[in-house]
This record gives sequence, C-alpha cells and structure tokens, in this order.
Amino acid sequence: MIDLKNLTTAKAHESLKKGDYTVRELAEAYLTNIKERNKELNVFLEVFDDILEQAEIAQKRFSDGSATLLTGIPVAIKDNILIQGRKVSSASKILLGYTATYDATVITKLKNEGVVFMGRTNMDEFAMGGSTENSAFGVTKNPLDSTRVPGGSSGGSAASVAMNGALVALGSDTGGSIRQPGSFCGVVGLKPTYGSVSRNGLIAMGSSLDVIGPLTRTIDDAKIVFNAIRGSDAFDSTTLPDSYYDKKHEKKKIVVGIPKEIQDLKGVSSDVLKHFEETKEKLKKAGVEIKEVSLKQLANALACYYIIMPAEVSSNLGRFDGFRFGTKIEGETLLDEYVATRGEGFGSEARRRIILGTYVLSAGYYDAYYGKAEALRALIKKDFQNAFEEVSVIMTPTVPSTAFKIGEKSEDPLSMYAADMFTVPANLAGVPAISVTTGFDSDNMPFGTQFIAPHTREDLLFEAGSFVSI
Ligand code: GLN
Repeated sequence: MIDLKNLTTAKAHESLKKGDYTVRELAEAYLTNIKERNKELNVFLEVFDDILEQAEIAQKRFSDGSATLLTGIPVAIKDNILIQGRKVSSASKILLGYTATYDATVITKLKNEGVVFMGRTNMDEFAMGGSTENSAFGVTKNPLDSTRVPGGSSGGSAASVAMNGALVALGSDTGGSIRQPGSFCGVVGLKPTYGSVSRNGLIAMGSSLDVIGPLTRTIDDAKIVFNAIRGSDAFDSTTLPDSYYDKKHEKKKIVVGIPKEIQDLKGVSSDVLKHFEETKEKLKKAGVEIKEVSLKQLANALACYYIIMPAEVSSNLGRFDGFRFGTKIEGETLLDEYVATRGEGFGSEARRRIILGTYVLSAGYYDAYYGKAEALRALIKKDFQNAFEEVSVIMTPTVPSTAFKIGEKSEDPLSMYAADMFTVPANLAGVPAISVTTGFDSDNMPFGTQFIAPHTREDLLFEAGSFVSI
C-alpha cells in the first residue's frame, strides 16, 4: 500500500527511482480512490482512458535516466484547460461535445515532464463561482465533509488532491478560484504572478485577471509545479520575459504586513478572525517581524472586481455563438439561433455576468462604471506598491469563512461574491498569492491563510507560508 496521504512529489520521485513501486502502481493507487469516491463526490467529469499507457511511457524515462521530478506524477486538470484530442467544456452545456484541437502551453510543458494525466475536474461554469455549484454537470462535494462545497471555481481540482485522486492538480484563478477551494479543501493553492504562466489554451474568463496555477498537498509541491509550468510564451503576448525570474534577490528577513482595514470589513466570521489572530501569534513566536500596513481600497476591491470581470466575461463569451464551438440550436433566423443557443447553453450565472458586463461597457454607462472601476484598480495597485515598500509579504485570511454547506449561498449571488473579498485584490494588482492550511475549526474544516507578495516574488510566498502551514 502506498501511503498517499503523506505523499509528496519528491517522495514519490525517490520511490519511483528506487523501484519501490512503478508509475503504473502509483496511478492505480489513485485510480482506486477515484473509483471508490467519484460517484459520490463528482470531482472528475472524466477519468482518462489511457492512464496506464501514459504510465508505461513515463516508466521508460526511469529506465533511460531522463526522468524529472514530475515524471510519472498523477495530475488532475481543470476542465477549462485544453488537452489536444480530449473533451473540454468549462463545465458548460454550450461546449457539449467539443474536443480540444491543441494543447494548452501548460499541458505541453507537463507532457514534456512525463506526468500522468488522470482526468478533467469539475468547476463552476466558465470559472464563475466560488462553490462549484454553478457547474452544468452537478455540484462537487467537499471530500472532507460531503454536505459542504469544495469551494470554487477550481473545486474539482482542489477536491481531487484532497480525496487522493491525484497528487497535484491545475486550476485557474481569476478572483480566487485556486486559493479559495484550496482553503476549503485543506490544500495549498498558488495563484502565480499575472503573466508568469501562459494562458494559451486556457478558456478565458477575465483576460486581464486569469492565471493558471497548482493545487497541491505541500508548499514544496506548489513550487515544483509552478517552476514546471511558468515561462514566457510566444502564444501569449502577456507572458513575462524569463529574465524576470532569473534575477537574484538579496536574502532578507521576511517582514509580514497585516492590513489594518481587515478589522473594518463586514461579514468575516468570528472564527476566522480568531484563527487569524492565532496565526499572527504563531508567526511572532517563529521570530517573524509583523508590521501593520494599509490597503486603503481593500473594502472596495470586490466592487471593482465585479465590474471589470463581467465586462471581460461578456466579451470573452461572445465567441460561443453556436457556430464556432459546441452546442448549436437551430432557429428560423440567425438571431433566433443565437438567442436559443446562448439561452440554452449558458447557465444562469454565466447569463447574469454577460448581461452585467454588457451593461457596464455600454456607451451610456461606460464612464460611470467601467471607467471608474479601472481608476479604482490603479489605486489598488498603488496600495500594494506602497505596502511592499514596508513589508515583504501581506497576510490575510483566504476566505471570510470555512467551507459552507451545499445550497447555503447558491440562491444569493451577492453573498457568494462576498466570499471573494480577500482574494480579488491580488488579481486586480496582478501580484502572486498563496493559500496554505493553518488550522481547523470546531467542525474540523480547514482554515486557509493567504500571503500576497510583489510581482514575481513567489519565492517569498513559499518562505512565509512555511512558517504557519500545517
Ligand atoms: N469566485 C470568483 C468569481 O466568481 C472567482 C472566480 C475565479 O477566480 N475564476 O468570480
């Protein structure tokens, strides 16, 4: 029996190298869990049919000496990342029957490492949501308590790691969709610097906010996957030059900033606040200096995000018209076909955001809403710049509560949006952030703590996270 609960990429690599078990045996151990629990939890929308073939190919790299740390490692992929020849749907009916025609850049990179792709994971439709309840293919249940949501939108990817259906997973984060489910499922979630990982082959939600990143059991694993998938890419002109990551930084003692505005935010559970205080104490005990900083716009970030994101959504989802991809419903006129296809194909959250986004971009309201939100976004960036002159990283809770019950917020979009208050600022500023598990509440559900660092300084996130992660 392979001890999957305590497995890490480094440990699995050592064992595969020594021949304690084969790549196939490792994949089969994860497959057994998937077979046992996927029906109940609905984590994987598809389990790939060629896992054992992939394992054989990876095994050869151990015999010919070309294996890397990730060779043979079972990986789950969010259903909005393209794998050539495989179905991909962004958990939407509008993409039913669509097969990807090329590999996302992150997939090409992972293929070069020789990973074993286990399957594609459930998510909120087009990555819109924070609970995976917006999937067209049913809710995913939290493996730690199946009456609760796993978070979202990368709920399936977070749950795949938590249920031992894969050792690591990829998700995407537009406003918290890696960190929030990471927090709810008790795994590490890294949202890298905007532009550090190529978005080529990621089905776009908000193009100025989206980034692909890992969900893993440990910080070390997040680092390994991040290093494997990042890099400049000719297919995504917003990727950063590789030289940004080659820079050597002078080694300094970490100083953690705590935004004083956290105490004024409404809707943060008292359990979360109490746990946050305890986490601060833990840092102090570890000898880490803590400083108060100010993120003046923290309370306004949510409103800013919920203007900019739907604006980008309304534009990005314009391409799903029934002609180019997936579902098409016939009608009398062209307009009838658009209306029927988009009306049937998109779920209610996608429709809500398309309508809101079209509204804030319309001629009469552009200045009042979109223009203002862009101006606010500049102030949010400035807040971070100022804070990072004083401190190395900023610490906040990841989410204002632990995992909530299925159905608790699904009828009230605004209460669902409020769960993003701590995660959206990093996307608006493009800076990297990580969620690590730092404790459990009285129901044994995990608390996540978030660290945010300056652009390209994921190294500081890994370092700061290690002080408090359990
Ligand atoms: N929960 C947020 C939203 O619904 C974040 C989504 C995401 O990061 N993809 O917009």
